[in-house]
Amino acid sequence: MSETLELTQQLMARASVTPADEGCQSLMAERLAPLGFQIERLRYGNVDNLWARRGPAGPVLCFAGHTDVVPTGPLEEWHSDPFKPTIRDGLLYGRGAADMKSGLAAMITATESFLASAAAPRGALAFLITSDEEGPSVDGTRRVVETLRERGERIDWCIVGEPSSEQRIGDTIKIGRRGSLSGRLTVHGVQGHIAYPQLADNPVHRLAPALAELVSRVWDQRNEHFQATSFQVSNLNAGTGAPNVIPGELKARFNLRYSPVQTLPALKRTVEEILTRHQVRYTLEWYLSGEPFYTPPGPLSEAVSAAVHAITGHAPQLSTGGGTSDGRFIAPLGAQVVELGVINASIHKVNECVRIEDLDCLHQMYLGCMRNLLA
Ligand SMILES: [Zn+2]
Repeated sequence: MSETLELTQQLMARASVTPADEGCQSLMAERLAPLGFQIERLRYGNVDNLWARRGPAGPVLCFAGHTDVVPTGPLEEWHSDPFKPTIRDGLLYGRGAADMKSGLAAMITATESFLASAAAPRGALAFLITSDEEGPSVDGTRRVVETLRERGERIDWCIVGEPSSEQRIGDTIKIGRRGSLSGRLTVHGVQGHIAYPQLADNPVHRLAPALAELVSRVWDQRNEHFQATSFQVSNLNAGTGAPNVIPGELKARFNLRYSPVQTLPALKRTVEEILTRHQVRYTLEWYLSGEPFYTPPGPLSEAVSAAVHAITGHAPQLSTGGGTSDGRFIAPLGAQVVELGVINASIHKVNECVRIEDLDCLHQMYLGCMRNLLA
């Protein structure tokens, strides 16, 4: 059996629903220690993290990922136990098959192959693994990066093993992600009888024209690597339930997915200016879940693209689509960050799966990345 398939199954059999690690990191550490990696277990709060490094001098090539998985969802909709990895028709089924225990396994087996074949690799190899990517992402990669920064440790190149592929393995790699800024808005009005609007102040009517402007606004244009910034309302609530009462308050939540041509202060200022200009009385709390990051095409993306091309015969598309990833915490260390992993079509769904033949492809791609950068 393929070593990558075997290790993927071992990791998937551990029910590491976020933030539990269930021994996945120990399993990885047991494979890395004999290769000469210094193993550090960094536990913050209830989150297990693993930092493993081999080699004193840079450049540092780091593999990053997470051992936690999202909950299973309704068990009766799974065709097999989500934590008993099961092979059917060339696919391996179970929670974490694609997001991202196959990625973790391929990193480990590729590193084993690389160190067995490279006489004296230059630079250093590292692993930054957390069990808090699917949860609040507070005590995971973010905290490990803080620790590395305090020590003055740097990462030059980071390959995140998140499932980046869309139709075929290696068709897409991520070279950045958009930023994510959320707002929790309360519009203050005056409640009253619907027949006496002059005695009330309807917050729905107050907000409507401002909202129309916010949703129709062209924030910026898409460019070669980033979609245009988008404003979306996720929740909107007002009203007492009675048909004859003007509500006194409206609550809304919204999110901006933004490209790096925007700045955080300018986005906030624009939203607040539009609300104020429409004479909305409001309070607004902002939440930043991730600033955008972007690795312009350069040595890392070229090395990764070449490694993919050597296996598939096609250069991958360089994308910044999708949600945020832990790459957003690693990039500010000054690292180039690229995401390369299996097909993401089934992630977070019931009957999550990965193509078995893709496991060895990913192993070969990661091995090619190491050879291109460190051999
Ligand atoms: Zn993931």
